[in-house]
Amino acid sequence: MAHKPLCHVFTDDPNISIPNLIATLSVIPLEQHGITRNRISPCACKIISNLQQAGYLAFVVGGAVRDLLLGLEPKDYDVATNATPEEVRILFRRSRIIGRRFRLVHVMCGKETVEVSTFRGNLPVDKKNTIKEDADEHGRLLSDNIFGSQEEDAMRRDFTVNALFYNPASEEILDYLNGFNDIKARQLRIIGDPLQRYREDPVRMLRAVRFVVTLDIKMDADTVAPICNLAPLLQNVPSSRLFDEILKLLLSGHALTCMLDLYAHGLHHDLLPTLDLLMQQTSGGHFITLVLKNTDDRVKQNKSVSPGFLFAALLWHEVLKIWNSRQTMGEKSIPALHKAMSDVLIAQNKKLTIPRRYNAIMQEIWVMQPRFLLRKGRRPFRLIEHPRFRAAYDFMLLRCESGEIDKSLSQWWETFLNANFKEQEAMLLEDIGTKKQRKIVSTVK
Ligand code: ATP
Ligand code: MG
Repeated sequence: MAHKPLCHVFTDDPNISIPNLIATLSVIPLEQHGITRNRISPCACKIISNLQQAGYLAFVVGGAVRDLLLGLEPKDYDVATNATPEEVRILFRRSRIIGRRFRLVHVMCGKETVEVSTFRGNLPVDKKNTIKEDADEHGRLLSDNIFGSQEEDAMRRDFTVNALFYNPASEEILDYLNGFNDIKARQLRIIGDPLQRYREDPVRMLRAVRFVVTLDIKMDADTVAPICNLAPLLQNVPSSRLFDEILKLLLSGHALTCMLDLYAHGLHHDLLPTLDLLMQQTSGGHFITLVLKNTDDRVKQNKSVSPGFLFAALLWHEVLKIWNSRQTMGEKSIPALHKAMSDVLIAQNKKLTIPRRYNAIMQEIWVMQPRFLLRKGRRPFRLIEHPRFRAAYDFMLLRCESGEIDKSLSQWWETFLNANFKEQEAMLLEDIGTKKQRKIVSTVK
């Protein structure tokens, strides 16, 4: 039986308090936070020191400060400054201005890229506290390029734990919103009025899930409360941003927990409805769980993960369902499979569009599945030669492991792949038996 998403607990509770947003600056010295400047990437240090020498304010901000305080290795570095993107661009030869909704500068040193953003300022609001400009009818910001003070910048960030500024020169942390204590309490707290902040940018709801899972921290009550009701706002976000964020969740090394959390908060409906399967004790549920666990293991072992494979797996049971029903209605197997694939991709793309570059591999993996059943003549040999054989084979193994198809199929293939040519021929012979077919097999080189 499917579990009700956890978020239903919150839908009846209108008492969401709106915290007053008052920024008070605390300067946290090295003795208290323990992050020495040699822990910061030399590239970020160099950029900050150049900006400071040119007379600007500049700090490490965001995920890197947060991660260092939590004892984690930062993945990348973000720098915040009062220099405009053009001023930053002039200072660094290897840099380029990127983004439209949120303009910032990518500064490169060696292989590393550091994102340098200009302090954001307050948004113009009317008497009802709704944003006057650059927002759609749901309050989503279409651009966020108004520059302001450092304090305003802190308030424009998403969560208090992401709004700490570290100055490598003084080795101090500037904390306007009590983020340091939230880190110590392992608490994720949205900055400002949660409803307004999620409306401005619904992707913050997905970021909240990612941070809670990957940092192993808890969302405070006001931060979690509105998510369930606001989840449909994700429909209005450009698909490319949603896809990038979903991919971050899937490749975080905690894909299974992240997907369970998306489900629990009702965030999957408008993105990946197939995640409903996760809660079902069926081969579909087992399959998705296995695939996500496998992905997490691969990420933890620094092995590559193919997004095409992942999405093929997430959508496989949708394909199967339509494929089966089309066959029941009398359609031939292979045309029915092709139609099912196209139906599933069309339906999925109405929610979260999967970029076209992944469609080819997904379809190849799906189309190769029935070919694993055909073990006569030259067919297995032809299948092995397919450039995507490995991916399709791994996919088939997971199908067997999840209970969708009989394990004897994966055993046959495992034996076949480990056998020498003569043994392989013998396997085919056993499988076929007739004189005519034996003749075909013997022509295989
Ligand atoms: P990670 O790099 O691990 O994904 P991060 O917090 O550094 O985490 P980035 O996307 O690199 O995430 O963003 C850098 C910082 O910019 C964040 O820490 C946050 O302060 C701010 N930020 C990013 N996205 C948003 C957003 N949607 N709304 C408000 N502030 C944001
Ligand atoms: Mg970052």
